[in-house]
Amino acid sequence: MSSSFFDDVNHYFDAARRYTDVPQGILEQIRACNAVYRMRFPVRQDDGSVVVVRGYRAEHSHHRLPTKGGIRYALDVSQNEVMALAALMTYKCAVVDVPFGGAKGGVCVDPRTESPSFLERVTRRYTSELIRKRFIGPDVDVPAPDVGTGEREMGWIADTYKAQGPDTLNWLACVTGKALAMHGVGGRREATGLGAVLALDLFLSEREDVKPLGLGTGIAGKRIIVSGLGKVGLHAALAAIERDAIVVGVSVSDGALYDEGGLDVESVLRHRTETGSLRGIAGAQFFADPDTILERPCDILIPAALEHQITSENASRLKTKLIVEAANGPITPEADSILRNAGVTIVPDIYANAGGVVVSYFEWIKNLSHISFERMTRRYQQIANNRLLDVITRLTGKPLPPEDAAVLSRAPNEIDFVRTALENTMAISYEKVREPWKRRSLPDLRTSAYLMSIESIANSYALDGIFP
Ligand code: GLU
Repeated sequence: MSSSFFDDVNHYFDAARRYTDVPQGILEQIRACNAVYRMRFPVRQDDGSVVVVRGYRAEHSHHRLPTKGGIRYALDVSQNEVMALAALMTYKCAVVDVPFGGAKGGVCVDPRTESPSFLERVTRRYTSELIRKRFIGPDVDVPAPDVGTGEREMGWIADTYKAQGPDTLNWLACVTGKALAMHGVGGRREATGLGAVLALDLFLSEREDVKPLGLGTGIAGKRIIVSGLGKVGLHAALAAIERDAIVVGVSVSDGALYDEGGLDVESVLRHRTETGSLRGIAGAQFFADPDTILERPCDILIPAALEHQITSENASRLKTKLIVEAANGPITPEADSILRNAGVTIVPDIYANAGGVVVSYFEWIKNLSHISFERMTRRYQQIANNRLLDVITRLTGKPLPPEDAAVLSRAPNEIDFVRTALENTMAISYEKVREPWKRRSLPDLRTSAYLMSIESIANSYALDGIFP
């Protein structure tokens, strides 16, 4: 039985709606995808010929504005996929309480084989289409990077919008995930991967939740596999290693590596850049099929690439007790139920990979306020810290050792604010997701996250009351 990706998201939605009193009509409105713009446009190739490019932008929910979500560049992008991903954005934004509806875009191009100049023409033309139909704008719909796009594409989008869009004051806030030089925000690049590890850390902090899995609390010493060492997976792996986890397995599009003793992820990637492959790393087992890595033994599996990596076909062969969904929709509903029956706990995508949009929210705020987060506070805080050091010196009669003085006098910069605000958001949201799971004995964290999300979205429609 095969269902579409959008059906899969709705399947999870329907599993949660059974637990709420939100009226049916409102549930139907939340679940529906409000608007999809499907476009075809001509783009000149580098040899002078013209090709027709297919693109989409889905705005799933307008309960809060702007809508928000990335743009994906891949040959298999489809309308159904962007609708599903837009729906996930709606639920995700509600889980972490960022004030956006959900959206997602996609363009059918292969960013790995196309030239930068062709990709620039595609991106600028796609942006023009969005402007023409009012599918982009700081208060309307704000794209961001997704699979196959990054800071470069976001810069082209911002520049096209500046040239053609209606907003002369707030144009920079029309897209997030921009480079720092283009007024992006420090910490956005690693936000999704780091957020997934923060989510993992929070899950692992509750003894009563980890004990049934046969695991101890804390990330340190845990054996982790990251499937898909792209933008998200790389930063998840690095954040896990920083917390003393052992990354025993990784995969990229053309192969995988497994080493019980742990991999040095950065040198693995360096090796791949230099040799073009993961083959030949001493002590590590190489697999030509990247999906093999999903079935290797580990304590924690972090799928960080595309949707539908774990299906009814391979779910029963997984050798892990805990999965953190850093990718969007990596587990099909059939696989989800197989894993649940096998006692595997899943930290769901709409919470686990929300770090990206949380930091996008900070970037949007920064662009709308036209000032960096540290500008008004940094100098003042430095002075205040130095005053404190002077008082300590006066009271104790001797200066602090220079290393301690340096730690105390340091004032926070933008990335400190972004990181701590991300940590705070992930922690507050985790409490809100975990609490109904425990109190109402819901079957799993995913159902709980959807339920909390649905009830929070419903409150935007609750003109005469509050849910639940
Ligand atoms: N594409 C990312 C996601 O799936 C980020 C979206 C955003 O920052 O708006 O969450």
